[in-house]
Amino acid sequence: MGDLVRLAIITSQLSDGYLADARNIAVPTPWGDAPITVGKLGRHTVAGQMRYGPRRQTASHQINFRANLWALRELGVERIVSQNAIGSVNPMLQPGDIVISDDFIDLTKNRPLTLYDTDASWVRVDMTEPFCPEMRRALVAATRQVVGRAQDGGTFICVEGPRFETPAEIRMYATLGADIIGTPLVPEVVLAREAGICFASIAPIINYGSGLAPAVIQSGDGSMTDFYYRGNLHTNVERAISLALDALPDARSCGCADALKGALNGPMPNWATRPPTGLPTDA
Ligand SMILES: [Zn+2]
Repeated sequence: MGDLVRLAIITSQLSDGYLADARNIAVPTPWGDAPITVGKLGRHTVAGQMRYGPRRQTASHQINFRANLWALRELGVERIVSQNAIGSVNPMLQPGDIVISDDFIDLTKNRPLTLYDTDASWVRVDMTEPFCPEMRRALVAATRQVVGRAQDGGTFICVEGPRFETPAEIRMYATLGADIIGTPLVPEVVLAREAGICFASIAPIINYGSGLAPAVIQSGDGSMTDFYYRGNLHTNVERAISLALDALPDARSCGCADALKGALNGPMPNWATRPPTGLPTDA
């Protein structure tokens, strides 16, 4: 078994040099290989996963979610920070604000729902507290340290995409209680729970939802991507992630690791009972 990697960041893009001594590896899983960048972040070794692929070539609805998540578990990951640059549904939340969600609504349509659907076993995990409370506290504190304020709590509505929403959809989602909207959070958060991995999201708002602004633009001048990467927002989010991961005690005190207790129907599949393989020794 190679060295274990305990921490991971799932994101769309990591700044050059954010992970020191970074190297790219491919981790085999029952659902195919997943590319991961491993490097040092302060005193920690961290796995960086670019969910849209290294060249942003994969749309949210095409991501191999199960391979990506299980690859992190194979490395030994116990905690995942998900970076989600998202839109606002609640007009009180504006571009530039940073939300640490405490709940979500799943409106995806065509994605894997679980890791456990290929064997004579299935799971029904508790979602009373969907995000790891210990990691949420660390992210809220770190974000406040970096930018002075953070939205502690909020409901993330996850939709299929890849298109943007209509104004009527945004109005409906607001009536459902959603605060922010994005496309990749589900099933990442669900699969992490099934794997016993802590998961929390740090979500910078980079655009208003449709109907709350004249238009929503993906790329180019005046776009949400420009807003995120040209200013300090992306850098500040990465600084907050660094501080939060550094502040977490090495041992977990939450209940995330025990998520499968009382949730499993049938025997554990063989692939799920194997210990993590850790880093490839030849990489
Ligand atoms: Zn946890």
